[in-house]
Amino acid sequence: MTTTQAAVVESPGAPFTLQDVELDSPRQGEVLVRMEAAGICHTDLTVAAGLIPFPLPGVLGHEGAGVVEEVGPGVTKVSPGDHVVLTFTSCGTCVSCKLGHPAYCTTWIPQNLVGGKRPDGTSPITRDGKPLGGRFFGQSSFSRHAIADQRSVVKVGDDLPFELLAPLACSVQTGTGAVWNTLRPEPGSSIAVVGTGAVGLAAIMGAALTPVSEIIAVGRRQDQLELAAKLGATHTVDSTQADLATALREITGGAGVDYVVEAVGNPDVLRAGIDALAPRGAVAVVGAPPYGVEVSVDVHRLLPGRRILGVCEGDSDPDRLIPLLARLVRAGRLLVQPLIREYPFADIAAAVEAFKSGQNIKTVLRFDT
Ligand SMILES: [Zn+2]
Ligand SMILES: [Zn+2]
Repeated sequence: MTTTQAAVVESPGAPFTLQDVELDSPRQGEVLVRMEAAGICHTDLTVAAGLIPFPLPGVLGHEGAGVVEEVGPGVTKVSPGDHVVLTFTSCGTCVSCKLGHPAYCTTWIPQNLVGGKRPDGTSPITRDGKPLGGRFFGQSSFSRHAIADQRSVVKVGDDLPFELLAPLACSVQTGTGAVWNTLRPEPGSSIAVVGTGAVGLAAIMGAALTPVSEIIAVGRRQDQLELAAKLGATHTVDSTQADLATALREITGGAGVDYVVEAVGNPDVLRAGIDALAPRGAVAVVGAPPYGVEVSVDVHRLLPGRRILGVCEGDSDPDRLIPLLARLVRAGRLLVQPLIREYPFADIAAAVEAFKSGQNIKTVLRFDT
């Protein structure tokens, strides 16, 4: 048993408050991690607001980076002292997992989003002897220590700052993976990325590492569009000033754009992306609107080989993609630093407010201050 300090959300809509909680010793397949940094992602706030039915009171956080302190029985992939990124978990045994697509694991929703407990029904986190919702994305990393499922743990080198590692766990993996794993653009093709938050900018950086000819960043904030251009966008479109489908057709000489990453979760934007596609083009749907939101499509638009592809976590196999992302960060080929604004863990309430206001691209909590 470890007593640690976690950011607890008491009920839907309640703030994150720091409290002492107890963590189990790591059980079979579990790892005790001392957290060093954790990114805040939209899904944390969607759950805290009660829009996704996670058991509250509970502990969220799904972009962790830290140091392994202890491993439970059966853990072979990491050892105490290893620097690790904490990402999503998966069962490892279903067909999707066996085919190398753990983001499409049949147990993905209960194990990462809504379950709040181990598969055996227990929670690794208690307060005054009562279980709290835990194991969010196999980790619940808004906590000075976390019990993580070993399938959500990825070992990385010990030479990178933790604040650069944390965003690799979800947003950077999602954006780069949507381009590299799902769209796989051919040499000379064009790609538009709608949304200039952490996922969209990661998609732009991912696209810049492929042989596409045009990378079109679409956003609503001039400062973020300027950053997108520094990170590899060849064109920028201010969507508050221009009609999206028209602008994309103009930039591509009327041909339409070959690939679109929709990273804002807006059905009108998705529809505009579909309308802007060239024949055989594809839209990767990365942004998540509330449940039940629909989009209508003229079926005849789809017949010339156009595709709409949903993507979760960049269709990543984290054990392969996250070490690659870390190598690219180390080599200076993936510039995560300009996206980040750091806050001490104790200031999580202020960090969440700043994140909600949209003034920060990637908010990262630090546990050493
Ligand atoms: Zn996320
Ligand atoms: Zn699975």
